[in-house]
Amino acid sequence: MIRVEHLTKQFGDLHVLRDVNAEIQKGEVISIIGPSGTGKSTFLRCINLLDPPTSGHIYIDDEDILAPKTNVPLLRRKMGMVFQNFNLFEHLTVLENLTIGPVKLLNRDKAQATERGRELLKMVGLSEKENAFPSELSGGQKQRVAIARCLSMDPEIILFDEPTSALDPTMVSEVLGVIRRLTKEGMTMAIVTHEMKFAHDVSTRIFFMDEGIIYEEGTPDQIFNHAKREKTRAFINRIRSFSFHIGFAGYDLYALNAQVQTFCEKHIFSQQRTDNVLHLIEECLQLAFFTASEDIALMTQRNQAVVDADGINLELDYSENNDTVEIVFSSNSALGSITGGDDADLISLAIIRGLTTSMEESVDEGRVKLTLRMK
Ligand code: ADP
Ligand code: MG
Repeated sequence: MIRVEHLTKQFGDLHVLRDVNAEIQKGEVISIIGPSGTGKSTFLRCINLLDPPTSGHIYIDDEDILAPKTNVPLLRRKMGMVFQNFNLFEHLTVLENLTIGPVKLLNRDKAQATERGRELLKMVGLSEKENAFPSELSGGQKQRVAIARCLSMDPEIILFDEPTSALDPTMVSEVLGVIRRLTKEGMTMAIVTHEMKFAHDVSTRIFFMDEGIIYEEGTPDQIFNHAKREKTRAFINRIRSFSFHIGFAGYDLYALNAQVQTFCEKHIFSQQRTDNVLHLIEECLQLAFFTASEDIALMTQRNQAVVDADGINLELDYSENNDTVEIVFSSNSALGSITGGDDADLISLAIIRGLTTSMEESVDEGRVKLTLRMK
């Protein structure tokens, strides 16, 4: 039904969409997720020509909508759009909001449009509000009217741009309920949303957008449980990260600890967990630099190895969804002493083992990575 090829969109120097390729089939429900500012709204606005694309192709029912001879108003009528801020006509009643489009643009007669309008109001649970003005409605009710108004134009597809993000939490579910119902009726929809559970439950496919492209796409199970790419996983699991660069043995331990502590507090770690994180990092760095040793030669040698490797990067990742902490050390080569130290390191190593549930070494783009997981 919709095919997008090599779509790009620039605002001045800002390349918002770099190369978007996508297909949406009739009857599909696509959820578009991703961090803010990655062009999700822009993508929807390009599809229904509210924003002219910079380059690329968009086909609707195999018709190239960017071709000069295209009947844009007609094509746009095939697509309904529901915005975050409802955009109702404030000076018209609820029912008039639903009849004005069909009467003025589709040349329906008033009685017919009114009948259909009432049907739609019933469907979204707002029959009793037909004579109310938008200002008399709650946000959730306004959004349901906006959806009904959109349906009054008999669209072939509805594009939703964060339909629930302007709502009080208590009103989110009444709007999602209406969208759920539309999915059951086979409506084709593309929904930009931050409601992950909803996206998981109703979508036939999920597009994860980042870096101006559809960074990963798949079924809800693929995206939520088996994402192939790290950024997708981080987004899905709400992984919050903190990183710190350690150049040599004389690194500022107090500054590091203070920052780790702030990170832990921000994510409401227990005191025990915070202490464990701090302890674990300290033991690992001790192994990397051998700072507790009296063996000056070995200490110098390790310190030099770290300096030669441009230091060690420390990353602390906290997954809100799984409630787990990962500590990742990475370096151009100087991590061997953390896992493979000699006898003098055995105590530190035992402490590290005791504080972690797993320890894994890998090589990623030429960098040595050591990942420690904690509960
Ligand atoms: P998202 O919906 O994923 O949060 P948007 O599509 O709204 O992202 O915006 C993507 C980027 O494009 C943002 O950096 C935003 O500031 C910029 N942008 C959006 N619309 C315009 C515009 N009309 N003019 C200039 N920049 C814009
Ligand atoms: Mg947006």
